[in-house]
Amino acid sequence: MRPILVEEFLKDLEENISKVLDGRITPRELIEWIQEHRELVQDPLLSDTLSHERLEQLIDYLEPIAEFSKERTIKRLMNALGMIDRYRSWHFFAKPDPSKAKQLSLDIKYAHGVGPKREKLLRKLGIETLKDLIFYFPREYEDRRRVLSLRDVLVGEKVTTKGKIMNVEMKDLSGMKILVAVLADGIYHLLLKWFNQEFLYKQIQTLKGKDVYVTGVVKKSMFGGLEIVNPEIELVEKTVSLEIFPIYPLTEGIGQKELRRIIQQNVHCVVNVQDDLPGELVEKRKLIDLSTALYGMHFPKTMYQLEKSRERLAYEELFFLQLAMLLSRRTLESIGGIAKKIEGKMAQEFLRKLPFELTNAQKKAHQEIREDLRSPLPMSRLLQGDVGCGKTVVAQLAIVDNFEAGFQAAVMAPTSILATQHYRRMAASFESLGIRTALLLGEMSKIEKEKIKKLLKSGELSVVIGTHALIQEDVEFDRLGLVVIDEQHRFGVRQREALISKGAAVDTLVMTATPIPRTLALAVYGDLDLTIIDEMPPGRKDVKTILVSVTKIDQVFEFVKKEISEGGQAFIVYPLIEESDKLQVKAATQMYEKLSQEIFKDLRVGLLHGRMSQQEKDLVMERFARGDFDVLVSTTVIEVGIDIPNATIMVVENPERFGLAQLHQLRGRIGRSDKQGYCFLVVGNVDEEAMERLRYFASTKNGFEVAEYDMKLRGPGEILGLRQHGLPDLKVADLVRDRHLLFKAREDAEFVIKNLERFRNLVDKVEKMYGERLKLVKVG
Ligand code: ADP
Ligand code: MG
Repeated sequence: MRPILVEEFLKDLEENISKVLDGRITPRELIEWIQEHRELVQDPLLSDTLSHERLEQLIDYLEPIAEFSKERTIKRLMNALGMIDRYRSWHFFAKPDPSKAKQLSLDIKYAHGVGPKREKLLRKLGIETLKDLIFYFPREYEDRRRVLSLRDVLVGEKVTTKGKIMNVEMKDLSGMKILVAVLADGIYHLLLKWFNQEFLYKQIQTLKGKDVYVTGVVKKSMFGGLEIVNPEIELVEKTVSLEIFPIYPLTEGIGQKELRRIIQQNVHCVVNVQDDLPGELVEKRKLIDLSTALYGMHFPKTMYQLEKSRERLAYEELFFLQLAMLLSRRTLESIGGIAKKIEGKMAQEFLRKLPFELTNAQKKAHQEIREDLRSPLPMSRLLQGDVGCGKTVVAQLAIVDNFEAGFQAAVMAPTSILATQHYRRMAASFESLGIRTALLLGEMSKIEKEKIKKLLKSGELSVVIGTHALIQEDVEFDRLGLVVIDEQHRFGVRQREALISKGAAVDTLVMTATPIPRTLALAVYGDLDLTIIDEMPPGRKDVKTILVSVTKIDQVFEFVKKEISEGGQAFIVYPLIEESDKLQVKAATQMYEKLSQEIFKDLRVGLLHGRMSQQEKDLVMERFARGDFDVLVSTTVIEVGIDIPNATIMVVENPERFGLAQLHQLRGRIGRSDKQGYCFLVVGNVDEEAMERLRYFASTKNGFEVAEYDMKLRGPGEILGLRQHGLPDLKVADLVRDRHLLFKAREDAEFVIKNLERFRNLVDKVEKMYGERLKLVKVG
């Protein structure tokens, strides 16, 4: 049996005590477990007599319970849980020494252990002051508290083990110099190897016959024995510390040990970091104090301390971010909005002309938006829903209501294709209600643009739809009342603000293209109210998603031909524009040649990719939408929002190269009518992990679930798209791992906003942190 650490013992003990408390095991079984495991506890922590004694006391306290009455047992178990908690708070935390603390603002050149050479290197890492130094966190940790005997090491594990160095030798293996030493304990042994590091020879030689600690990853050697390549070695002496070692991101010229020592000498100034988190929140969330947390990020005594340190700092980060968002929201509201007078007659008229009935979710979304428009506070709302749930109609209804109240509206989309499509889908129904609508794109002629701008300024135009061209300075409105932003994550927060600032107290509706998990919505759109459309229009058939091997691609193409002969259209999507040898990925252009000249030579094939000019792209999309092409070979430019109801097939090659959220977007391009849609994922040689992802995708139609899954695997940035995703910089918090903290932080930030008089000082703090980004104005 391998040794266990005190913290592991206590964690399992705690778990087993609660098992007794809810009857899953008997008191006797608990005692047996304790007796079996107490012998295995081995921990440098126990060299402290007091901690040793207290552990013994705890065990002694529990041992007789098997003989007790039920009531007395329960009481004792409850007490034991309290003892475990106290034990942790007494013995699990390393703390800074205030007497060694220097000023945070101290220039790094005056720090302990820093001379001119190191000063330069530290500055290269962005460390200018002591404060920067202590906020330079490790990227990982190496736990060397547990020393395994040679008998207990396992292949594949990173371990610290102990033995005597025997037999040091330089070997020559076809030109490569290998330094080999044997580590042995009398019964077991393993090999230590260093490649091309002859300079170590002398040093290792001097260790011969001595006891050492060796740390590294255990591997199986070619001849069946065990070995560690490039191990770290330390002499077993009284001074050696069996601790958790921080591993820092480095720059050339400075080593791990060196940086560790510099930080160790200076870390005590963490006591000077001002703690701004309200005490009642620290208490409520059972957080540890700031200086212990900062110290614990560098030199945690236990993994428990590290966990609590991360928790404290992550919570704080998320809390201030949420507070900033809620404050910016308040700032906006303090400017005041316009209570729009909406009777709803025009919307009724609009709905009468619509060829379908709204879903209940759409109706509800419209109601929420209408209430916002009527309210004297400005609207900031995020409209979310799966691909194809019908967000556009809801946005149109908002525009119609806004028009009825006497205001202009602007719709901003990320690309010309999308802006044009919105224009096409919206303009006719608007015009028929007497709402003058125009399209404004950057690539339009100057004369055209001037004309539209003039009409906007005079108020003759009521709705303008366009790209970022809308936020140009010389675009002015007469009475801008509503801004609709489609696929907002493609725009920066600043661009959103730029458009809003073109009117006084403008209402804002943001629509996302891809459903995003709630955590992400909070982190990125925490200043917006959320409306979710969770229902699909009736009669829509789910797209069938089918994984096929690339060896069966001919059958897929046969199927494509058959569908087209029945009047359908197909997308064929490739990850890259041009062939790249390295990635062996089929590329759209090459495949276009092949498909149009061979496989689909009797069909009309179009090509679309991101390197084409906007005009070329628009033309191709237009022609595909008109039905001029049967097949469109494309890169992911079609990814966002394009609507071609007649397209029923989507073939994606190398789907493993896409994020699932992105694949879901692609899949959403088809099945937009009552016809059955098919999405073929054509996979070549991919690993099992990728297959698993794709299988999950094929079996899940709900976009929110796909996004959640994708976020766990690939991180939040991927879901929002790589450009300007508006994700906040988080140093410690992780939106996936710390989601429970995010929800708590949000709740607490809401509480603080409601009781702001009590938390005045927080406003200044948040302003300092986020003022630039969120344009906060002093409130009240
Ligand atoms: P998305 O939410 O992805 O932007 P769209 O607004 O583009 O979805 O709508 C997808 C398609 O569904 C459009 O062709 C639209 O006309 C149609 N649609 C929207 N709402 C309904 C409904 N309630 N009933 C039937 N079809 C609808
Ligand atoms: Mg859309």
